Amino acid sequence: MTSPTHRGRFAPSPTGRLHLGNLRSALLGWLWARSSSGEFLLRIEDLDPDRSKAVFTDGIFEDLEWLGLDWDGPVWRQSERGELYDEAISRLSQSGRAYRCWCSRAEVARAASAPHAGEEGPVYPGTCREGATPKPGREPSWRFAVEPGTERFTDAVHGEVTQDVARDVGDFVIKRIDGVASYQLAVVVDDALSGITHVLRGEDLLASTARQLQLQRALGYPAPTYAHVPLLMQADGKRLAKRDGASTVAGLRELGWPAEKVIGQLAAWSGLGDGTPVKARELISGFSLARVKRTATVVG
Ligand code: GLU
Repeated sequence: MTSPTHRGRFAPSPTGRLHLGNLRSALLGWLWARSSSGEFLLRIEDLDPDRSKAVFTDGIFEDLEWLGLDWDGPVWRQSERGELYDEAISRLSQSGRAYRCWCSRAEVARAASAPHAGEEGPVYPGTCREGATPKPGREPSWRFAVEPGTERFTDAVHGEVTQDVARDVGDFVIKRIDGVASYQLAVVVDDALSGITHVLRGEDLLASTARQLQLQRALGYPAPTYAHVPLLMQADGKRLAKRDGASTVAGLRELGWPAEKVIGQLAAWSGLGDGTPVKARELISGFSLARVKRTATVVG
C-alpha cells in the first residue's frame, strides 16, 4: 500500500460539545485533505481524565456524521495510548533530552526569571535539568530539555514564523505528576505514528508548533506541514468556547438548523461561500487553502 501524499486529521478534545470554531477547523482540514485526494483521520484527545467525557466523544461522532465529514481508518483515543507515550519519554530520557522534575508550580513561579513570563505562565528556569533532588513521597513530572535558539518554520497560512522555545517557554512538561502525558508529547507521537503529513488547526495552537518541531527532531520523526487558521471570535473579543451553548453544533441542530445551513455559514465565515446552504462535499472541488480568509471572524 502506498502512503497518500496528504494525510490530515481532526483531533478534538471531548471536554464539551463541538462548537462552530472546532467545527470550522474540522471542515477546513477535511476539505484540504479531500481536495488533495488525501486521507483524513479522527483522533480523540481524551488525555485529561477529569475533563474528558464519553458523552462528548459520542457527540463528536454524531456531529461530524450529521455534517457529512467522514474519516478514514480507526479512531485513535489518546487515553488508550499511554504506553506509547511512555516509550517516547524513555527514548528521550536515554538520549538526555528528558528529565524528572520535582519542582512545584509555586517553586517554578518563584524561580522563574521574572519579570519575563511566557504565554503559558512562568518560563521554567531549568532547576532540575542538572540533577534533581527527589522529594520523598512526591511523584515527579517529566520535562523536555529544549534546544536554545530560534525555530523557524513556514506555516501554510501565516508564512514564515519564528519562535524561541527556550526563551519563551523553557523546558516544558511532557508527563504530568499524575502520570498523564502532556498534550505536546502525545500530539507529536500520534501525528508521527499515524503518518500525518498536514496539520490544520486553530491559531490558538500556533504557539505550540515550535515545541512540537523540537520534539519531532529529538524523536527522529518527520515534521508535517502546518496550517493555523484564524479563530471565530465573539463580539466581546473572546474566542468561541465550548461552554457557550448556543454556538455548538448540537445547539443549532436543536434550533432546527439543517446541516447544509451550518456548513454554508461556516464556508461564508471562511471566505469560501456567500452563506447559501451547501453540503460539505459540494465545497471540495472549489477548495484551496489560499482562498481561506486570513483574519479572525466575529460571529456574534
Ligand atoms: N486537542 C486539541 C484541541 O481540541 C487540538 C490538538 C491539535 O490539533 O493539535 O484543541
